[in-house]
Amino acid sequence: AAGPEVDLARAVLVAMLAAVSEAEAELGRLDAIAGDGDHGSGMTRGLRAAVEAATSGHSDLSSLLRAAGAAWSDKGGGTSGALWGVLLGGVADGLAADGQGYSASRIVAAVSLGCDRVAEVGHASVGDKTMLDAFVPFVDALRAAVDSGAPLGAAWSGAAQVATEAAAATADLRPRLGRARPLAERSLGSPDPGAVSLALCLNAAGSVLAA
Ligand code: ADP
Ligand code: MG
Ligand code: MG
Repeated sequence: AAGPEVDLARAVLVAMLAAVSEAEAELGRLDAIAGDGDHGSGMTRGLRAAVEAATSGHSDLSSLLRAAGAAWSDKGGGTSGALWGVLLGGVADGLAADGQGYSASRIVAAVSLGCDRVAEVGHASVGDKTMLDAFVPFVDALRAAVDSGAPLGAAWSGAAQVATEAAAATADLRPRLGRARPLAERSLGSPDPGAVSLALCLNAAGSVLAA
């Protein structure tokens, strides 16, 4: 039978979809400043597919996350769809071994693997004005809080707040990668859409995990 972590992961994806749907127009507006304006619609479409893929079967957390990521990249499209597929696939790989339980430190290691995979596949580093500018500080803050003994829900919510601030701070950066690069100057003063949506997703996940 599926453990409670499978139901929790589904609830996290549902909460992420609600948050992204609510922000869809704003994310599209942000992406239109220097990109092609499809970030809100792509995220909503990808997450809807991820929720659907997570709804059926799946007796373990890893296979649920792998299926959700595959559906997201398949249906979401665009750079962000591909990278969210890579992200969830990395988390799934980190949680693949059976019988180890789901300690907070194991979750940190899996999320960190997802972050590393995004950097690897997208050839991006901190400062390039991408989702990584919110994700890397999130992982660092999550690890620090868990290492100091905080329970996962509290650690996650605190780290998600760090991600929100880091996403806002990307307004000061010029994009060095992706579709926004040619219009980099135009993007100055506005935050990276992928960093903003990642922070929204992390906060939505935190509300579920801390409940
Ligand atoms: P597209 O640019 O293909 O239209 P989206 O608009 O959905 O895709 O997503 C754009 C977001 O993808 C950017 O705001 C940025 O956060 C992220 N992104 C773009 N290129 C990269 C990359 N190489 N590495 C990490 N994230 C990236
Ligand atoms: Mg776009
Ligand atoms: Mg596009």
